[in-house]
Amino acid sequence: MPRNSRTPSILRQRILRLADGLRERFGIPGCPRRVSILDALVQTLLSQGTTDHNRDLAFNELKKRFPSWEAAADATQSALASAVRSAGLGNQKAPRIRSFLHWLCDEHGELSLEFLSEKNDTQAVDLLTQHKGIGIKTAYVTLMWASGRDLFAVDVHIHRIAGRLGLIGAKTNPEKAHGELGPFVPKGRAFELHVNMLAFGRTICKARSPLCGECDFRRMCHYHRGIIPDNLRITRPGSARGKRRRAPKN
Ligand code: SF4
Repeated sequence: MPRNSRTPSILRQRILRLADGLRERFGIPGCPRRVSILDALVQTLLSQGTTDHNRDLAFNELKKRFPSWEAAADATQSALASAVRSAGLGNQKAPRIRSFLHWLCDEHGELSLEFLSEKNDTQAVDLLTQHKGIGIKTAYVTLMWASGRDLFAVDVHIHRIAGRLGLIGAKTNPEKAHGELGPFVPKGRAFELHVNMLAFGRTICKARSPLCGECDFRRMCHYHRGIIPDNLRITRPGSARGKRRRAPKN
């Protein structure tokens, strides 16, 4: 049996090792760009299930057609859906954005989320996640980018890497992973670790065929050692689902 890598002290050490190793490879990313919290929220909603490029196309088109959030709130759902079409799922994303804008206006009298700066992390996250389509990841990404909060957002890359490294439970879903990882991320380094893990997931620890031979974390990697969490087993057409497989030894 592998040594339990998820006792608090070992987990803290391993995440620190990961953060330091990734810093060595990818450097320290520049500070998050400061945009309005509402802009960041809409961008994050648009980014769900699409690329950064398509998200930016949709957001720019939205701003071009509706230069103020008041104009966007007054627009019909189909006009909003048409504006954000390039991000995909326009018929799902547009009503979510529209209903959030209406709620914000009704509840707070203006289309701004800057009042969240007065709230602590838990209060800010709770307020955002009560809305349809806004999960913990969306709330964390929004607050991390717009307000520079030290919140560790777990996306699909980070969830996969953390699973392979045994930093989260085999059955832990991305939503729950926030609670399992966040408390052990070195203070003040959540943004750096988030950005560097994305870079690592896109270039080395890729979903299919990770480049283990180029990886500095092989010795602590469950996937590389053949101990693959259930939620990360790769099912290929024709293969038996959940079949235990060994990662290539590089
Ligand atoms: S050894 Fe391979 S699977 Fe493990 S973290 Fe590195 S690249 Fe990912």
